[in-house]
Amino acid sequence: MQARILSHHGRQAWVIDGQGQHHLCMYKGRDQEPMTNDWVEIDLAVRPAVILRQLPRKNALLRSEAHRSKGLAANIDQAMIVISGDPLFSDELLARMICACFAEGVAGLIVVNKVDLSQPTARARQQLASFTDCLAQLGWAVLEVAAKPKPPGFIQTENADLVRAVAEKATLVLGQSGMGKSSLLNWLVPEFNAQTQEISQALQTGRHTTTASRMVAAHDGWLIDTPGFQLFGLHHLSGPQLALGFPEWAAAQEAHGRCRFANCHHLNEPGCSVKQAVESGEIAARRLSLWQGLLKAS
Ligand code: GDP
Repeated sequence: MQARILSHHGRQAWVIDGQGQHHLCMYKGRDQEPMTNDWVEIDLAVRPAVILRQLPRKNALLRSEAHRSKGLAANIDQAMIVISGDPLFSDELLARMICACFAEGVAGLIVVNKVDLSQPTARARQQLASFTDCLAQLGWAVLEVAAKPKPPGFIQTENADLVRAVAEKATLVLGQSGMGKSSLLNWLVPEFNAQTQEISQALQTGRHTTTASRMVAAHDGWLIDTPGFQLFGLHHLSGPQLALGFPEWAAAQEAHGRCRFANCHHLNEPGCSVKQAVESGEIAARRLSLWQGLLKAS
């Protein structure tokens, strides 16, 4: 029988089958690395139930530090990145998340949360402005919402757009800590806490232990909650893969001709078209400094 993984912990996985039944299964082999939303073949005739094999993935989103990588989820239809102005989101982390998605061909949307806070939201918009061309070229939408509307009853029309955006899709929800990701998930899925509590109990993890992603049913689709983070390493990506998250570079080469060196990294090389586009104001200088920082760190 086939099933998909809602969450996992150690060698155990909590899965849902085609009839909507949940089962706790053990991984037999040590060669497999489970990921949330993996499709697997399970055997319920034995106790405990086992995962016989993992089915091929259409994509797998990771983050990776120098010596270890962390699987966030597999087979996702889109990513939703939650940012806010209070605290102000890190544009470096945002650039990293976008790169991770694009390396796997995953589209997505940016959700600016806490728009009830006007001054912080103005700062968030200002910081996001350098991403405008990038997001437009990648086809990502930006929605402004409030997970905790104040005064009560103040609901952004875009909150409703958000429900439409996640309907019938498997959406990976990413966000650095404090952006209001949990609040937003609770707003989107009233049973969010009940569903994640069931997962914690099944896997015997503490209620608030969020080391693995957890998938919950929502609006005829799935929302995959990931642990909040302050770092988002991209050691698993090569330079050309990282460049997919900076589509302005290709556009600059079209406008100004190719860089003098075919393998130009847009650092300090002479005859660099990207640098030229930055100097003429076509590309925000912050985009180039983000890129240079990313390239040096990976
Ligand atoms: P997470 O770390 O991203 O999961 O963030 P939380 O959901 O725990 O929220 C962090 C803080 O932001 C909490 O104090 C929330 O009450 C607050 N918060 C979340 N959403 C909103 C919002 O839309 N407006 C305001 N004003 N505060 C919010």
